[in-house]
Amino acid sequence: MWHIYGHEWAIEQLRSNIRTQRVAHAYLFTGPSGIGKSLLALRMAQALLCEQQTGDPCLQCRTCRRIERESHPDVRVASMKKKIMKRIIIINAKKKKKKGKNEKKEK
Ligand SMILES: [Zn+2]
Repeated sequence: MWHIYGHEWAIEQLRSNIRTQRVAHAYLFTGPSGIGKSLLALRMAQALLCEQQTGDPCLQCRTCRRIERESHPDVRVASMKKKIMKRIIIINAKKKKKKGKNEKKEK
């Protein structure tokens, strides 16, 4: 059970890839924000690693639950939002450091 509304064609394609063991080395989920790309990618990871090995994620086994909690050692969730926030924090830290040096020179 993928528990996703919509994306039926994509789910069927991914399920077929898993069941026939023809999983590509990478998948690119694209589209506007908020349409469920991240959830689809998460469900695919669960389907690939699920202990039931049916081509669908059971969402009940230990593996599915660990992936859901982002605590599975073989699944990393990379987020552009996190990267952007990290970059902003680094830029702000550099600005403060630079500002601090300039203040010292003025004294
Ligand atoms: Zn499972």
